[in-house]
Amino acid sequence: MNFCQRVTMYQVEAAVKAAKEAFPIWSSKSPLERSQILNKLADLIEHDLEAFAQAESKDQGKTITFARTVDIPRAVHNFRFFASSILHHVTECTEMPTMGCVHYTSRAPVGVAGLISPWNLPLYLLTWKIAPAIACGNTVVAKPSEMTSVTAWMMCKLMEKAGVPPGVVNVVFGAGAKAGEALVCHPDVPLISFTGSTLTAQRITEKSAPHCKRLSLELGGKNPAIIFDDADLGQCIPTTVRSSFANQGEICLCTSRIFVQRGIYSEFLKRFVEETKKWKTGNPSDPTINVGALISKEHLEKVRNYVKKAQAEGARVLCGEGVDPLALPPGNQKGYFMLPTVIAEVKDESCCMQEEIFGPVTCVVPFDTEEEVIRRANGVKYGLAATVWSGNVGRVHRVAHRLQSGLVWTNCWLVRDLNLPFGGMKASGIGREGAKDSYEFFTEVKTITIKH
Ligand code: NAD
Repeated sequence: MNFCQRVTMYQVEAAVKAAKEAFPIWSSKSPLERSQILNKLADLIEHDLEAFAQAESKDQGKTITFARTVDIPRAVHNFRFFASSILHHVTECTEMPTMGCVHYTSRAPVGVAGLISPWNLPLYLLTWKIAPAIACGNTVVAKPSEMTSVTAWMMCKLMEKAGVPPGVVNVVFGAGAKAGEALVCHPDVPLISFTGSTLTAQRITEKSAPHCKRLSLELGGKNPAIIFDDADLGQCIPTTVRSSFANQGEICLCTSRIFVQRGIYSEFLKRFVEETKKWKTGNPSDPTINVGALISKEHLEKVRNYVKKAQAEGARVLCGEGVDPLALPPGNQKGYFMLPTVIAEVKDESCCMQEEIFGPVTCVVPFDTEEEVIRRANGVKYGLAATVWSGNVGRVHRVAHRLQSGLVWTNCWLVRDLNLPFGGMKASGIGREGAKDSYEFFTEVKTITIKH
């Protein structure tokens, strides 16, 4: 083990120890006391919203507008939401009169929760884990992505002022293979909530198996949008451009396969490309910009390579990468920018239609029947989110029920109610998070029987 590895191990060890020591006091506070502290933390982040948004945009490459309107407001909302929801859970009770028994359940926090988050929505996703974990009375060791740690650091500085006792929230900064894995393998961390790639989740599953840890895994997607010929294209097209390219396409819920019914295929393509070309790529600090920089040089190369592969397979790039000029301001010439790219005539078996690209690239293909499109939409290893566009109420219900997808939006995208389960099926994840689901994940249930 080299020096850096030893330091990381030491930090994880110290963080778990602090979390373990803080657990008895934190877990014995009432939900109301914990709720008040979460609300205070939300207020403090909201007070510094602009500073957080600037930092998130600079660190990640996302546009300042996205950071201001989505990332940081949602981080604030995460704390407020779980501060409220923790006050409203009820446990179950049944009676067995013939046996003279009453049964009921009680729930208690589990202990030290290990929380691991990715780089695409840094503070948004980290707080989506920290808030429910501590609301339920657990203490945490959280590891943000090594690519985007700045806002996690800024949040740590507000903990004391919010009244979070020392040791309740511990953040370790470091690479996944070292800090993340040390947390996953630590015997005193009984549960891991992870958001990231399917590949890393496989490794976490293997490494945690000897300890029988409880896992929540929120993973990648290859999300379809299905557009029937009776869809309201005036609503559908701008929303599908947004669902394809928001945050540079670096959202697990982004659309990357668009199935369009043949009767409207040509019209859709024309209007979709026109709308995509309205999206401006450039300096993330400029509030008029829609597409910022990708996370890294390596990731940009990876995303560009998908476009090259599609072209080599005979697909047509209708706009964006390699087709249109990318004019960047002088200060951004060396940045990792890429135009939103639309590809047509891609085969279903192509890697562009099967693998998660996680960049500003979307594929558009025609379909004929409902039966066919359901089969093709389900024909990938992932099952995170899908979008269905149609004016036929019966059809949207029918299709939604048959899609292998943890979330289905019809005639909209990314409208979330945090009360309801969030998560994916197949290779997109195990478990769900949300008001009731997070409460169940972050607590241990016990069934108690009383004979009278
Ligand atoms: P990643 O899997 O590379 O990293 C995620 C986190 O895991 C990082 O903090 C990383 O340091 C850590 N990590 C890496 N190796 C580890 C190991 N061996 N043990 C423990 N931790 C380890 O993912 P990424 O590239 O940061 O994020 C992009 C991926 O996240 C995409 O696949 C995207 O779809 C997915 N994602 C999913 C959701 C969802 O809610 N389903 C949300 C956002 C992102």
